[in-house]
Amino acid sequence: MSAARPPEGARTAVRSTQGNPVQALPADFAPRLIHWQARDGRHGLPWQGTRDPYRVWLSEIMLQQTQVSTVLAYYPRFLERFPDVAALAAAPIDEVMALWSGLGYYSRARNLHRCAQAVVADHAGRFPTSAAGLEALPGIGASTAAAIAAFCFGERVSIVDGNVKRVLARLLAFDGDVGQAASQRALWDLAQGLLPPQPSAEDMRAYTQGLMDLGATVCTRTRPRCEVCPARGLCLAFEREAIARYPVKTRRVQRRFERWWLLFAVRGDAVWLQRRPERGIWAGLHSPPVFAGEDDMRAAVPTGWPSHWTATEPVAHALTHRELQLLPHWVAVDEAPAGWAGEWVKRSALAAVGLPAPVRSLLGGAWDPQVLDQ
Ligand code: SF4
Repeated sequence: MSAARPPEGARTAVRSTQGNPVQALPADFAPRLIHWQARDGRHGLPWQGTRDPYRVWLSEIMLQQTQVSTVLAYYPRFLERFPDVAALAAAPIDEVMALWSGLGYYSRARNLHRCAQAVVADHAGRFPTSAAGLEALPGIGASTAAAIAAFCFGERVSIVDGNVKRVLARLLAFDGDVGQAASQRALWDLAQGLLPPQPSAEDMRAYTQGLMDLGATVCTRTRPRCEVCPARGLCLAFEREAIARYPVKTRRVQRRFERWWLLFAVRGDAVWLQRRPERGIWAGLHSPPVFAGEDDMRAAVPTGWPSHWTATEPVAHALTHRELQLLPHWVAVDEAPAGWAGEWVKRSALAAVGLPAPVRSLLGGAWDPQVLDQ
């Protein structure tokens, strides 16, 4: 960066888009972050060092709500099968879901596929080059659009994902509830105000990566490592010894507890699977029939099926808004269940089917004859 370095700790006022003064920002933040990223940030992740919007987009979508360590296994596999946006757009959705299986938040996979098709159909296979253009595509939110635009096209626009909101709230001792829309708008303004004033494309890449790295590795949700933080001298929460107060969240997500009875009907080396509805939990994936109670499950069973079933260990499955207890039941049958939606899927074909992670794990080991004969 070429701009003269402001005096340490200097702050400049920023106004919101409504014109109200909202906060005094540390003028020194961007150069410090860029310098820190070069020295102490993360380098060498497989999605770094590319300006290909397809690869950056894919990594950004996978990294939403998902640990880097998990994505490291999925990203190369996905790229190997779908090396570019055209290959992804042309693939059957079931294949995309199968490769996504285990990453969770499956609406991301459906939107990924829709987005690839929109890029091919509406943009001649090339991603738009601005954050505004990217945000108009399916499944690309404002922060993801900003990340792609900054990394690939050097646009001067800030990411504001959950990690960044936490960093900003601490850095600026931001008192608003980060769950509320008005606070989120204010944080966008603040994030824009912190950007380097006239950055080169290289500055924007380093700054954006630095912000991500700071939130992921230093200013973490629990036990932030302030002792190594490049922003420590600028951080109001640190100065006031009030880090635990930020970010302010007044509404906690309440998880509802539910029990789901899963009926695994097995015929030889095949299991009966149904496609889940397009909305709701496990949307669009395949699972054994799901019942809200044991009576419902027994009532739905076709006449002529054996009355002896095997129940295996319940499985706890936590989702954002739901705490599920899965109760697997197994039955060996000769006949397809008349009147049920679904189909027999051979064990050897399961790898190519989109399955929720706990169902894949249950099908991975539990339906051997000994279990069914117990
Ligand atoms: Fe976060 Fe601590 Fe750095 Fe402040 S000093 S930004 S609380 S890590």
